[in-house]
Amino acid sequence: MATFIVLLGPPGAGKGTQAKILAEKTKLAHVSSGDLFRENFKKQTELGRLAQSYMDKGELVPDDVTIKMIKDRLTQPDCQAGAILDGFPRTPAQADALEIMLADFNGQVDLVPYITASEETLVERIGGRWTCRAQGHIYHQTFSPPKQAGVCDLDGSELYQREDDKAETVRNRIRVYFEQTMPLVEYYRKAGKLIEIDGMQNVEKITERLLDALNKK
Ligand code: ADP
Ligand code: ADP
Repeated sequence: MATFIVLLGPPGAGKGTQAKILAEKTKLAHVSSGDLFRENFKKQTELGRLAQSYMDKGELVPDDVTIKMIKDRLTQPDCQAGAILDGFPRTPAQADALEIMLADFNGQVDLVPYITASEETLVERIGGRWTCRAQGHIYHQTFSPPKQAGVCDLDGSELYQREDDKAETVRNRIRVYFEQTMPLVEYYRKAGKLIEIDGMQNVEKITERLLDALNKK
């Protein structure tokens, strides 16, 4: 049966960083809603332009378009064995839609690692995040700098600071997270799927903890 993992946590907690490592180790697909919106914007699709108008303000993109985008992504062949969902679901309506989608694929949400960090740490991490233009590889100016400033170690493309990572938008994103996404913590806790992970540890320790939880499943 396919394995689906939902990474939950505030912006800057380290979901994208861990999702990329886990995808490599488990061979499951990495499905990041934020990356999908950014790819759509790069290609100037209608969805990309619509999403950008919300992202720039730090607001959530409406549920209907987000759900449709993820549904399309999960029907791709590389998701047949399952996926690591990073950034989706972010609202109760999205979580309900995910249950229905996965049931269609004969699957379910198996595990929900919930990565936490203090608000001060989130702001510090997002403020120093540099993202690779080509594939969204993630760096931090202090905590995980590239070998050469401004250049991705993995594909040589330019590193940039996301527009929504600028200080004005970050506080709003954290507020939106507490208001709209926090209810999912209780939702998945009640379902017996949540495991809490201290995101203040270093990247390697968090990966170890995630792999340990996955192996026990
Ligand atoms: P999210 O996807 O949850 O928003 P990211 O994985 O993009 O988070 O991480 C946010 C920033 O923090 C990035 O710049 C990343 O390099 C850095 N980072 C991620 N995990 C850690 C960690 N455990 N310790 C220090 N910095 C981290
Ligand atoms: P973060 O690194 O903060 O977790 P993401 O790259 O996941 O950021 O998301 C960036 C933005 O994309 C969000 O602020 C929101 O506007 C939009 N977005 C991403 N995922 C979703 C989702 N599941 N529902 C609605 N909007 C989303």
